[in-house]
Amino acid sequence: MALKIGFWLRSPKCAVALLAAVTLGQGLSAYAQKDSADVVVLNARAYTLNSRQPWAEAIAIRGEAIIAVGSVKDVEPYRIAKTKVIDAGGRLVLPGFTDCHTHFLDGALSLQRIHLDDAKDVAEIQRRVKAYAEAHPDQPWVRGRGWTYPAVGPTNLPDKKDLDAIIPDRPVYLEAFDGHTWWANSKALQLAGITRDTPNPPGGEIVRDANGEPTGALKEDSADALMLRVLPLPSREEKLAAYKTGFREANRAGLVRVHSAGGVGVGMSDLMNADLLADLQKSGDLTLRMYLAYRAEPPALKPQQIQQIEEDRSKYHDDWISAGAVKFFMDGVIESHTAAMLAPYSDDPKLSGSLLWDPETYKKTVADLDKRGIQIFTHAIGDRAVRLTLDAYANAASQNGTKDRRHRIEHIETITAEDIPRFGKLGVIASFQPLHAYPDDDTLLVWLKNAGPERGKRAWAWHSIEASGGVLAFGSDWPIVTLNPWEGIQNAVTRQTVEGDPPGGFVPNERISVADAIRGYTLGAAIGGRREQKEGSLEKGKLADLIVVDRNLFEIEPTAIGKTEVLLTMVGGKIVYESPNWKPEILAHPTEAK
Ligand SMILES: [Zn+2]
Repeated sequence: MALKIGFWLRSPKCAVALLAAVTLGQGLSAYAQKDSADVVVLNARAYTLNSRQPWAEAIAIRGEAIIAVGSVKDVEPYRIAKTKVIDAGGRLVLPGFTDCHTHFLDGALSLQRIHLDDAKDVAEIQRRVKAYAEAHPDQPWVRGRGWTYPAVGPTNLPDKKDLDAIIPDRPVYLEAFDGHTWWANSKALQLAGITRDTPNPPGGEIVRDANGEPTGALKEDSADALMLRVLPLPSREEKLAAYKTGFREANRAGLVRVHSAGGVGVGMSDLMNADLLADLQKSGDLTLRMYLAYRAEPPALKPQQIQQIEEDRSKYHDDWISAGAVKFFMDGVIESHTAAMLAPYSDDPKLSGSLLWDPETYKKTVADLDKRGIQIFTHAIGDRAVRLTLDAYANAASQNGTKDRRHRIEHIETITAEDIPRFGKLGVIASFQPLHAYPDDDTLLVWLKNAGPERGKRAWAWHSIEASGGVLAFGSDWPIVTLNPWEGIQNAVTRQTVEGDPPGGFVPNERISVADAIRGYTLGAAIGGRREQKEGSLEKGKLADLIVVDRNLFEIEPTAIGKTEVLLTMVGGKIVYESPNWKPEILAHPTEAK
């Protein structure tokens, strides 16, 4: 409250100070240097996420921080001749967005590969793969990602023969949209030495036909690992180039920070590549703040791994690159029956998924990391995995007497009614990716069939968790889905496809408001990354991370939210993206105009 009073008193106080300075013959410069703005944003409709001042018209920025938020009149005293003025022209201004769940390097590298996300059938996939292979004759492997289970045929699993038919002599390797299944052609299987005699790796599967012959479908990371042994790794230069392209994409989408939830491929974690990020920071190419998690592999964290986590944490801790979170995978996904459920799957009563960690080992490891102050992210999708994770967090807090650790659960696709209020009660952050609940065929035909109607009633329970006091932190899981947060907001609000299906929305009582969806990508995200002192809202003293967008999300049809275009992205007071479709009018200083 004290800050706010100081702010409102500023104008009269300034007038007195100005008068004194002039009287003393010191001119205006001393005053101007102390309090002047480098940039002011005027004529904005700024939704600040500051509950004491939800809307504002103008923002003054000095260096990398916000120095004033208020009306144009409030901000005017900070403006001097050299202040850059951005006239927002009445457009919506928001805090810059944070994506709380990315596999950033994987995503950045995938920008150079085949995109199959919207390919509807095998013929379309074949066409794109063939076109890409022909356009890139020098690449030894043909790689792509994004195919969906319904698109590859009636069994929902792909077959090598469809790839062999178009490319028999060069390895082809395509990742499913969810990163849990891969599709290889015969050449790729041959290079990896995968034959009918190769045993299934632990936790994974080499899918076989009736004769025991591998079909080319590989399930889960451990099966992918067989292929990773022979896949060429990207060079340092390729990774640097991919990062730069990734930053541009992120800034263009309105992102100012991403959380990296660890890598998918070998050596692909952003934390393992933090030295590259540090080099990009030094050369001025880092335009996206990065929070990097260490991926903990079962069965246990070894002492030297904990030491590594501590070393990374003390090495990387500035406003741009920070480490100090640890990511666990408690289970798999519902589509492949690998998410751990309390009751059997609805479509197959023999299956209830399985845990990737022994619950006791996990609980002890969580308690140890909690004691050290390390934040924990746990992937938990089945209601059993969610419950055991909450149990481990509750145990750590009571055993160590710790408060406000903000441990997180990632995904939470199913949950029991009893566990919903535990997020608020325990201060556990609910990290959701709204587009995972996009009600397309994959969700309605595969996910819902497997989970069944009872668990389906609490699918992605955004509203229930928030209403019972839990903090929602939103993200994408890029490259699993697009990095574009606007489509995520639309789905959080509608739970309908872009075609408007299902008519009433998928589990409509779990929809949330536009304001709450924006909060998930801003203040909620900042809280979920322990950054709310400096980020997440437009307030005096916080970092000048903001965006200007082309439409007012509060006034349009929800179905138009997904097409929102970012016009300008600013990170730390610097413009890192400007839309070619918009040039803010640069206003002259009023004293110069006279
Ligand atoms: Zn993920």
